[in-house]
Formats: sequence, structure tokens, C-alpha cells
Amino acid sequence: HAARPHDLIALEDRLGAHNYRPLDVMIERAEGAWVWDTAGRRYLDALSAYSAVNQGHRHPRILAALTEQAGRVTLTSRAFRNDQLGAFYEVLTRLTGFEAVLPMNTGAEAVETAIKLARKWGYERRGLAPQTAEIIVMDGNFHGRTTTLVSFSSEGQYRDLFGPLTPGFRTVPYGNAAALEAAVTPRTVAVLLEPVQGEAGVVVPPDGFLRAVRACCDRHGLLMLADEIQTGLGRTGRWLACDHEGVRPDVVTLGKALGGGVYPVSAVLADRAVMDVFRPGDHGSTFGGNPLAAAVGRASLEVLADERLIERAEVLGRRLLARLRDLRSPLIREVRGRGLLVGVELTVPARPYCEQLQTLGLLCKETHGTVIRLAPPLVVDEADLDWAVACLAQVLHV
Ligand code: PLP
Repeated sequence: HAARPHDLIALEDRLGAHNYRPLDVMIERAEGAWVWDTAGRRYLDALSAYSAVNQGHRHPRILAALTEQAGRVTLTSRAFRNDQLGAFYEVLTRLTGFEAVLPMNTGAEAVETAIKLARKWGYERRGLAPQTAEIIVMDGNFHGRTTTLVSFSSEGQYRDLFGPLTPGFRTVPYGNAAALEAAVTPRTVAVLLEPVQGEAGVVVPPDGFLRAVRACCDRHGLLMLADEIQTGLGRTGRWLACDHEGVRPDVVTLGKALGGGVYPVSAVLADRAVMDVFRPGDHGSTFGGNPLAAAVGRASLEVLADERLIERAEVLGRRLLARLRDLRSPLIREVRGRGLLVGVELTVPARPYCEQLQTLGLLCKETHGTVIRLAPPLVVDEADLDWAVACLAQVLHV
């Protein structure tokens, strides 16, 4: 049984596909905002598994929901009903204000579901000719890795050698309302966007952009699809990042923290008028809406609400942004973010700095080459955030 970290790394490298280049930190256990490696070294987790661990690692209440449900029934498939799904729907709709839920597992599946929903809505409700629907997407988007989703990625590496690509998407610059307006055609059925672009490097749109997208959709009878898989569930200091502009999308995708970091749970939210274009047989998933997912999803939402983690993200995020903006380093091009989704854009590649931060006990991952993303669990302590800023100051020679 291989036990030493370099043996385990060799094993992974020999037997696994090489589709990731992780930092070589071998995590063995975790609690709250902290993880420990196999040598017992402690690190602050400033990535939170791409915002899937908003509630903190191994939250006791979420673990209790997982184990209790695991002791009863874990999987039924949707061919039968289970006694957990209704309560999950009830909490999710109450907290988000939407009328209906469609449960899936991963983020990419939720976005795929939203695209299918929008297309069918276009054919049934707008009367478009079959096969003609178009969806407007944003430059720099990241919605997942399925064939259709990479078809409209702006990243050549994500897209080019995975064709033939799915047609029916039109790309406009993120944050440019005039370009969006100009791209609408009689075939357009929806606009798909991230209210803050996470993987693009924590790109916050100009103030008013989300309202402008909403207005454009209203003017032309389009669905506004907000991918809140990374930004939703408190990360930006609101339940949904669209709430920052008081905008209500027609369709919202959630994932990541919906499973509290213990189980993959995603969902599509919409009101009845849209969701009801799906009828039995139109769409499905073996694991989507399973009782374990429903129990974990409900507990994950209740923890966010009961522990006031949304408010916490807002307060801590404001503090973190202010402290980072106080850092004076020629290596820092820009500091931006919303709530506890923060990007520090450097003038140079970020990877070596992430490696240095790792040696100090702060785990983050570069995104989009030059950006250090800071997105710790929302349960992180104020003092630990201050320490993280001090680590950054050290490696950036402030
Ligand atoms: N949408 C957004 C905005 C994301 O950030 C991600 C993942 O980073 C996804 C979709 C894809 O989610 P998953 O990796 O669970 O398929």
C-alpha cells in the first residue's frame, strides 16, 4: 500500500489521465476552512474546491444529513419517488424565490439542462422553426466541459480539438450591453451568462450590466439564463450574484455548494411557465434528485441560511478586498471581486506565486494565467483572512 506522498503522486501520474496539473499538496483531511497534508501540515483553503465548500469542509450538520440518509436509502432513481425530494425543493424554492426545480448532479449537466429548456421553450412558446434556436453567450465564459458547452468556449484549448461543435450559439463581449442588443436576431431565444465570471479570472461586469441584460431580454422576449454555479449560494455576499443588481433571471443554474462539498448536487431553477415545457421523458438523470443528494442539498442550504453565511461573505469580502487594495506592489495589476470571490490579477504568471503561497500554508490556484483567486469557505475567520493577506504581501514583496 503506497503511503508516501511522492509514491502516491507517481501512482497518479502513471495510472491517471493527465488532464490536470495540481499543486503537489497531498491532502489527507480537512475541517472548516483548513486542510492538512499527509505530513500533518495545515493550510488555509482559499479555493474551496472552486466554491463547492462554501459551508466549510465537513460541516457537521451536512455530514449528519449524509450519514443519516445513507442509513436509510441512497438511490431510487426517478422511476420511483423518494421521501427527501419534496423537502429539498421546498427549501430551495423558498430561499431563491423560484417556483420549480430540476435536480441534476454536476454543474455542466445543469447548464446543459438550462440550454435544452431554453431551446424547447423557444420552439413551443415562441414558435421558432425546429433546429433554428440561437443562444447568446459571453466572451470568456466558463460553463463546464461537455461537448456542447465547450462548443462556445472562448478558450481554444477547451474547444478546438473536440469538434464537431454544437451550433446555435453566438458570442458577445462580456459587460457590453450594446453588443448584446446588436446580436439579437429573430432566432434568439436566450442569453446565458455568469453574473461574475469566475474561471475567466473573477471578472466583475460593469455596474448596470445585469440590469441591461434583463431589459434586453424583456424587450425581445428572451430568457435570461444565469449560471450561478460558482457565484450563487452566498459566495458573493448575496444568495444569488444577480441580487446585487436586483435582477431576477428566468432560469438559474446552481451546483457546487448545493452539495456542501460532500456530494455532487446541481439544479436548474425556473418558474412554472418556463419549467413546464419539460414533460415526462424530455430529460432526466439516473442520479439526479436521489435521496442522498436531496438530504445533503437541503442541509447545505439550511446551513447557509441558519449560520448567516451570506451576510458573513459580504462583510468578510469587503474587508478582504479593502486589505488587498491596500497592498502596493508593482506585481499587482488589479484587485477585484464580490463578497468572498476575489481575484488578484498580477502583471506576470500567477502559478509561481501560488506555489510560494503553498509553502507558507495558503492554498490557492491560479486562474486564467495571471490571476490569483481567493475564495475561502464562507466560515473562514477574519484573523485567518488577515493572515492570508499577509502571506500575499510577503510573496508579492509588498
Ligand atoms: N458553470 C460555472 C460558472 C462554473 O464555474 C463551473 C465550474 O467551475 C461549471 C459551470 C461546471 O461545473 P462542474 O465542474 O460541476 O460540471
